[in-house]
Amino acid sequence: MGSIPTSAAKREGAVWPARASVSCWKCGTEHTEALFCPACGAIQPLPEQADHFEVFGLPRHLVIDLPALQRRYYELHRRLHPDLHQTGPQAARQASLRNTAAVNRAYRTLRDPIDRGEYWLALLGEGLGTNNNRVPPELAALVFEVQEKLEELRDARREGNAVALHEELNQIRGELAERRDTLLQALQANYASWDAGAADAGALTRALKELLSALAYLGTLIRDVDKELES
Ligand SMILES: [Zn+2]
Repeated sequence: MGSIPTSAAKREGAVWPARASVSCWKCGTEHTEALFCPACGAIQPLPEQADHFEVFGLPRHLVIDLPALQRRYYELHRRLHPDLHQTGPQAARQASLRNTAAVNRAYRTLRDPIDRGEYWLALLGEGLGTNNNRVPPELAALVFEVQEKLEELRDARREGNAVALHEELNQIRGELAERRDTLLQALQANYASWDAGAADAGALTRALKELLSALAYLGTLIRDVDKELES
């Protein structure tokens, strides 16, 4: 339990507080697992503050092996399935529903690198905040250019000669996607630095916020372009 880091843990970066152990309702074994008793395998009531990493029994690492995460997801789903716990005590039936929902939430967040990063910031008590609406400086010129092109395309459509601009926007769409890929690579590098535990957590947090903010902006821009290209 106790997954929300204290300010002391935050200062130390990668250091997270240890989880309090619970005792299995079935066999009495003390353990720190979130979903199943490691001794007898009985389904356990989800600890109040179990975070997404704990739900999956994973260390708090930002670099995640996605195929392994998916395999684990299906495995947990099978083991938690309400049909398997129908005849068990009420605690087990409730836990199967509650734990299944927790596994779904954890999987949706952890499998997506952007959602995972935002969740990481939330665990650190560092939301992206209201600054998220500000255009990241390095993207300002690009955002302006794209918006101008979109405007031109709408005008050209009204005059019935949008073919060239359509072409141009398609090319811009490709550049935006490339830019997003570059940012996603930088995000992976940031995650690897967190996991290595060597770098300054404050600097990594700032870099992570900047990357996520730029990615959010690019995502919106790409959606805007797609919408216009499809209409
Ligand atoms: Zn047990």
